[in-house]
Amino acid sequence: MDASILSLYDRIRGWEERARRAPVTPRLSREALAERLRPYDFSAPRDLAELVSNVADLLEQGIIQNNHPRYFGLFNAGTRRAGVVADALVALYNPQNAASWHSPAACGIEDHTLGYLARKIARASFDPTSSTTAHRFATFTSGGSEANLTGVLSALAHAFPRYGEEGIAAVGAQPVFYGSDQAHDSFIKIARMTGLGARAFCRVRSDDRQRMDVDALRAAIARDRAEGKTPFLVAATVGTTATGAIDPLRDLAALCKSEGLWLHADAAWGGIALFSDSLRPHVAGLAETDSITWDAHKTLPVPMGAGMFFSRTSAPSDALFSVRAGYVPEIEPGTPDLYQRSVQWSRRFIGLKIFMTLAELGDLGMAAIVEHQAQMGRYLREALGARGFRVMNDSPLPIACFTREGGPEVRPADVARRVSDEGTAWLSDVRLPNGQHWLRACITHHDTQREDIDRLVSAVQSACSEVSG
Ligand SMILES: *Cc1c(COP(=O)(O)O)cnc(C)c1O
Repeated sequence: MDASILSLYDRIRGWEERARRAPVTPRLSREALAERLRPYDFSAPRDLAELVSNVADLLEQGIIQNNHPRYFGLFNAGTRRAGVVADALVALYNPQNAASWHSPAACGIEDHTLGYLARKIARASFDPTSSTTAHRFATFTSGGSEANLTGVLSALAHAFPRYGEEGIAAVGAQPVFYGSDQAHDSFIKIARMTGLGARAFCRVRSDDRQRMDVDALRAAIARDRAEGKTPFLVAATVGTTATGAIDPLRDLAALCKSEGLWLHADAAWGGIALFSDSLRPHVAGLAETDSITWDAHKTLPVPMGAGMFFSRTSAPSDALFSVRAGYVPEIEPGTPDLYQRSVQWSRRFIGLKIFMTLAELGDLGMAAIVEHQAQMGRYLREALGARGFRVMNDSPLPIACFTREGGPEVRPADVARRVSDEGTAWLSDVRLPNGQHWLRACITHHDTQREDIDRLVSAVQSACSEVSG
């Protein structure tokens, strides 16, 4: 076999075996990195096999290993081999998914996969006997940010039919939209990019469980209307990034209905609950929303970037993104292609890693991974409680935010940094808008086990003594 492929094969196979023994936070100093890059002045060709080996070494030594069972961090899923192999196949054949006539097999695989996932959403209904798929329009996106952008744009186009052609000025009154003070900060960027301005994104107070306070939202809508502004959207968060809180979808759906507002659910990570019978009831109401953000790269064991946008109707997307390019052959008139109904133009075959991962695992295999992660989340809480820590959040999802009980006060950021420097595990600290500051550990890897959690908790205990001593 070709030496470069062999070298890649060894790394893929070897990583799963080596991961547990490797440090989570290897250290390659900036100087050492610069030194290692200096020979690459591109003046002379190099051997590919040697390149594979050098680059893989750099990646094993020079990044935080989020694909490690003791990475308890931000929502970066551990990846399984099916997703890695899928991305290699995508690179090999490089299908152009902008137009389905160009890549019927690749677009067909994506539609097939999205249809399956839309049926998962349909099961998260207020009415457990209903399983009607409401979200008939779905696309893969680069990530949750693009999906949230598409949600805001869809709500704008829906509320203000002249927005697409005449712009924000034609809307008249100042449009405003709402999210909790825990909503993802991508909405700030989106408010700026859409021409609404950051102040059009109104952050509503959350309660002591970090869920949007619906009374405060109702009051904000009334106040804004009285001031002549035009509310058009509520962005609920289903699984906040900081603490895994789930906004009250039932109350939000009722309020949006009576106020005539678009309800978007940002379930970038919370969508993980859709695979699990025990977690699904916590996200009931996703089926009743107008649109949804769900990140495959946070909730399935697949590599980045794989977000998803689901919507009841393609009408706003068709209105917003419809263009007719003379240089793109019109093979199937009347059937819009993805470049005509989404933000992207040239489009990577994002969906294969999801298709292959689901196909390899099967429905039950995927459910078992999420149930395992939920169980590890419960064990994490127990282990923390048993060893002198107090868990401060109550999300049903596998994430724990905690502080040390008793002892001298320690700064969570110092503790997290100390754990990271030591290299056994990685976790982060989180600061809430009300000033609370906690340690934060999230189960993101499919193969995190009890002993990994025990080692994390021990590392946090030692770090607490060290930074307070
Ligand atoms: C991560 C995240 C996003 C952004 O998604 P990307 O895939 O990083 O673009 C949006 N919302 C929530 C709740 C998230 O956790």
